[in-house]
Amino acid sequence: MIDSYGRVIDYLRISVIDRCNLRCVYCMPEEGLEMTSHEEVLTYGEIVRICKIMAGTGLKKIKLTGGEPLVRKDLPKLAGRLKAIPGIEKVTLTTNGILLGQLMEELHDAGIDSINISLDTLDRELYAKITRRDQLDAVQKGIETALKYPDISLKINCVPMGLPGQDLSEIASLAKDHRIHVRFIEMMPIGYGKNYRFVGEDEILGQLEAEFGRSEIYQGKLGNGPCHYYSFEGFQGKIGFISAISHKFCSECNRVRLTSQGFLKTCLQYNTGNDLKLPMRTGASDEELKKLITRTINEKPVGHRFLEDEIRNENNLNMSQIGG
Ligand code: SAM
Ligand code: SF4
Repeated sequence: MIDSYGRVIDYLRISVIDRCNLRCVYCMPEEGLEMTSHEEVLTYGEIVRICKIMAGTGLKKIKLTGGEPLVRKDLPKLAGRLKAIPGIEKVTLTTNGILLGQLMEELHDAGIDSINISLDTLDRELYAKITRRDQLDAVQKGIETALKYPDISLKINCVPMGLPGQDLSEIASLAKDHRIHVRFIEMMPIGYGKNYRFVGEDEILGQLEAEFGRSEIYQGKLGNGPCHYYSFEGFQGKIGFISAISHKFCSECNRVRLTSQGFLKTCLQYNTGNDLKLPMRTGASDEELKKLITRTINEKPVGHRFLEDEIRNENNLNMSQIGG
């Protein structure tokens, strides 16, 4: 799958559900969020069908996300079915980690290759403020359990918010003490994220170097995407940055997204894409779906323009609906 700008698209992020057991302030409202009914959400059979068709045209990597993917029943079974599709090399997961303690063994047996755990602070009070739930203990237990499976690579994703008490060195030290890569993700002006400021990479790297000493750029490749990494002496894992705003990487974009309701979305910012659910539920053949998917990818925009105010608001979905 090559889009009209010559980018190879081999990575699909699937939001399997828009529900979540947290209410992070930059992602979801406290209450009143309209949840999609079960009938509107793609079934596992439909997700597998789309992935099989896309694998036939070059899809290699799949990320399961949400909402919180682990609150959807039998998620490890879906992971196993996707991993078994010929051509699919990697199936990975992004989770808030609350249910990892319970599901780690099943995820491992399903063949999950790597897990990203979102964690913005190790301070219990601040965690409860950011996520509106007092669940830090469960997340820490999840990380502890995940560390028992050495063949599954682990990353922490942290969104710096510039809040007093959000100690980024403390989060970074997880990469010092464990075989975990810690990545800082710039706040994006999507949904409730528009209410918060982003903290730039240079500012964070400066803070970390003051605490841990000088870093070196890491030249190797880790993971599916645009994250770039630094090594710190004495650290088991790397420190990474995903800086979509300050270090725009659209020219290397290799991904498209599938929402829980079956919309194939080709750019985080824009509403461009096509619904696959209705054609699937009204009898489209695999060949017809393949044509629709190819056309959708071909129309992928050249890049985001988040910094240009007049079109900042085009996206009408929250991150919990898009999947990050
Ligand atoms: N619930 C899972 C989790 O939290 O990892 C998966 C879905 S969540 C939408 C995926 C990622 O998006 C999380 O790491 C979250 O911190 C990040 N995210 C949500 N809103 C964001 C925003 N406005 N800017 C940047 N990242 C955001
Ligand atoms: Fe839930 Fe993830 Fe959004 Fe937090 S970031 S509310 S955990 S979907």
